[in-house]
Amino acid sequence: MDCEVLVVGAGPAGSGAARSSASQGARTLMVDKKKEIGTPVQCGEVIGLELVKRAGIRIPPQAIVAKHSFTRFVLGREVIVDNHEPYWRSVTVERKIFDKHLAMRAAMAGASVQADTRLISAKVENGSVVSCVLNHRGEEIEISPKAIVAADGVHSTMSKVMGADFFAPMDVARGVEFELVAKKELPECMQIFIEEEIGLGYGWIIPKGRRRANVGIGLVGVNASRRTFLEDWIAGHPVVSRYFDADKVLEVKIGDAPVPGFIGGPVRGNVLFSGDAAGQTLAFVGEGILPSYICGGLAGKHAAIMAKGGTQKYEEDLVDQMGDQLMMGAVLRDALVDMWAPGALDPRVRSLLSGAVMNELVDPDELASMTSAMEHGPLQAFKELARGSGKDIRARRC
Ligand SMILES: Cc1cc2nc3c(=O)[nH]c(=O)nc-3n(C[C@H](O)[C@H](O)[C@H](O)COP(=O)(O)OP(=O)(O)OC[C@H]3O[C@@H](n4cnc5c(N)ncnc54)[C@H](O)[C@@H]3O)c2cc1C
Repeated sequence: MDCEVLVVGAGPAGSGAARSSASQGARTLMVDKKKEIGTPVQCGEVIGLELVKRAGIRIPPQAIVAKHSFTRFVLGREVIVDNHEPYWRSVTVERKIFDKHLAMRAAMAGASVQADTRLISAKVENGSVVSCVLNHRGEEIEISPKAIVAADGVHSTMSKVMGADFFAPMDVARGVEFELVAKKELPECMQIFIEEEIGLGYGWIIPKGRRRANVGIGLVGVNASRRTFLEDWIAGHPVVSRYFDADKVLEVKIGDAPVPGFIGGPVRGNVLFSGDAAGQTLAFVGEGILPSYICGGLAGKHAAIMAKGGTQKYEEDLVDQMGDQLMMGAVLRDALVDMWAPGALDPRVRSLLSGAVMNELVDPDELASMTSAMEHGPLQAFKELARGSGKDIRARRC
């Protein structure tokens, strides 16, 4: 199991890292504590098409279960906004298939891949890791990689080892989702629900076919039992309950999503953090599959450079290649957090304005001037904003 670059975690970030590290000629080992890569799923499984080209991948057709030509925002249970702009086109994938496909690409590039292998501990000297202990099939193995990519998710073991605490409590959304069978055919779009009943965060319906979908919520700053919250939300929601009862549950998916804003490409000694471990999501929606894969690829490339004795420039490369997306996500996320601060905005209006900000119809600095328009005629306000923007966005009453 000896290697020059150790990649901890075989999610999208890890597979991106292992592939690029191996492609650079570094002896690379990727480990994951899971017995099967990609399982269990903790994800809505939607991929925005905007980043596919940048990721340099073709999503395998067998992983795609639904295509969405637009995204629907259901705002405050009052207004529906359909956004047909290219940015909001997406597909739903089976992550069990997709994550394995990415790991296979890493293996084909020359990386060793070991599922059922957990990083247990690491010895740190002068701020760098000198050795790692892995548990592989019950046996403890000590290895001494020259560089490490920590792609081990939001609750990263490597962060704890390095004392790198990247997230405050409000930087982590608590997610829960049921894969459900629908009572009737679903609209062919992803739906996002922003409303007072959820608070900062949002709900979603992500179709996996005409009669099947991931239905979930991401909660920020709410400590209630997430499963009960979701059951009650589905049952009590005038739109969601039209399609679903929470009694046809094919799968329960629970996980946390980092939404910290822009952290960049953090490095501690010889450890490069990537993916959820470094909060590399589009922070206003928590989308992390492709951002993690792309950022992981950069981390792997620079880990290989470091392992060969060169000077890594992970942060610079990351800002260059993903800074626009990650920073835009961070700006929108910060605007949403401000809007949901207690007393910042009229509770009825803030869901509507959050939707306007997410659709980039309102500049966060112009919220004050939009507040009364949203209060008195939200539908008209959206129609005028869409017309003024020239974007293919259509609004109607809920
Ligand atoms: C409820 C929910 C819904 C989401 N929906 C979407 C969505 O629809 N679209 C989207 O793009 N993003 C979504 N996300 C975010 C997305 O899932 C993540 O951003 C993405 O998986 C991050 O990839 P990663 O490789 O960094 O981390 P992960 O996918 O979490 O992979 C980390 C891996 O590290 C392994 N690991 C952890 N510790 C160790 C250890 N000590 N030793 C060995 N292995 C270890 C884990 O087993 C895991 O496989 C969602 C997140 C949640 C919680």
